Amino acid sequence: MEFSQYNVNSLMYITPRPEIVFTEGRGMWLTDNNGKRYLDYLQGWAVNCLGHCPAVIHEALVAQSQKLLNPSPAFYNAPMVELATMLTQQSCFDRVFFTNSGAEANEGAVKLARKWGQLNKNGAYEIITFDHGFHGRTLAMMSASGKPGWDTIFAPQVSGFPKADLNDIASVEKLITDKTVGVMLEPVQGEGGVIPASREFMQALRALTEKHGILLIVDEVQTGMGRTGELFGYQLSGIEPDIMTLAKGIGGGVPLGALLCREEVACFVPGDQGGTYNGAPLMTAVGIAVLKTVGQPEFLAAVKESGAYLSQQLMKLSDDFGLQGERGEGLLRALKLGQPIGAQIVETARNMEPFGLLLNSPRPDLLRFMPALNVSKEEIDQMLAMLREILAQIKK
Ligand SMILES: *Cc1c(COP(=O)(O)O)cnc(C)c1O
Repeated sequence: MEFSQYNVNSLMYITPRPEIVFTEGRGMWLTDNNGKRYLDYLQGWAVNCLGHCPAVIHEALVAQSQKLLNPSPAFYNAPMVELATMLTQQSCFDRVFFTNSGAEANEGAVKLARKWGQLNKNGAYEIITFDHGFHGRTLAMMSASGKPGWDTIFAPQVSGFPKADLNDIASVEKLITDKTVGVMLEPVQGEGGVIPASREFMQALRALTEKHGILLIVDEVQTGMGRTGELFGYQLSGIEPDIMTLAKGIGGGVPLGALLCREEVACFVPGDQGGTYNGAPLMTAVGIAVLKTVGQPEFLAAVKESGAYLSQQLMKLSDDFGLQGERGEGLLRALKLGQPIGAQIVETARNMEPFGLLLNSPRPDLLRFMPALNVSKEEIDQMLAMLREILAQIKK
């Protein structure tokens, strides 16, 4: 069907979108309304950890949709219990609450921390977050995020989120008062431009929060579920946080998130937290299928290997074109362009023929790569060859 035949103006305008409509996806590839194919390095924004339409997710959805869709959150269901058990067995956490999105999981983390502060810290409620951090788009999460301008767009802000600088422990210590209940961060800032918190910083943060008896909360919506080569990003630094949030990868493309905490922090009582779809079996059944695949040691070893290969090849590209290097963990990586040519590269890559390449530029001078975690070496080489062609054109 021609693009002009789609009545896109019935949608709210929230972001400029190219004039194509995606109709199919398989693995690393998407197909649009004209039948043109695209090599997809966005994967739904680091969501499709097993690529588009993987068989395990298809099978889980079909099987569960024939059994039970939603008995209500007031009852237990089997996939909800099984996924929670798998997550607690494979992490340092003891309790799980399922959500429908990352922002909702983070809202839950803030509520849990504030409740814990009421019970244990004299009503302390402030959660220190970080400049350029990203935690989602609800009112409170826009306040918790450190995106420039987000403190005023929908004023008044939700208060209680003072901002520190990533990898600067003194900037955190300075903000701690008797009102502080916790610190929340992404182990690798994703939307902020793929900026890893250093191992030393994470360890210092754990020591500092322990010293003050406050909570360490990791937002692993982007870094969790194998993205960094470890099942969870906090494992890169050998620490154990008190609260963790997941989304994106855990659903492999369907809306699923989770809030996890240690037993000592699990202080919700009936009435504090809930939601119509939370823990619904259709989505948690998918989570089980994803975790069974991604949680395999061989799978995680392959992510590390692909990440190292992508890193090395991006470095080579950077050397060849006089760029500023690359950074990241596992298969969440960024190429530093050194010039504000990100948007131009994204546009040129998408318009390439006979097939396009989908890339993301979270900052004008940066490209971010979020392939499926089972991306092949050939698919990495193919992307690099296309990117090389574009850079040769632009830098001529
Ligand atoms: C994407 C993202 C969120 C928001 O998740 P949604 O599912 O879009 O609400 C929160 N935190 C981080 C680190 C993210 O990358």
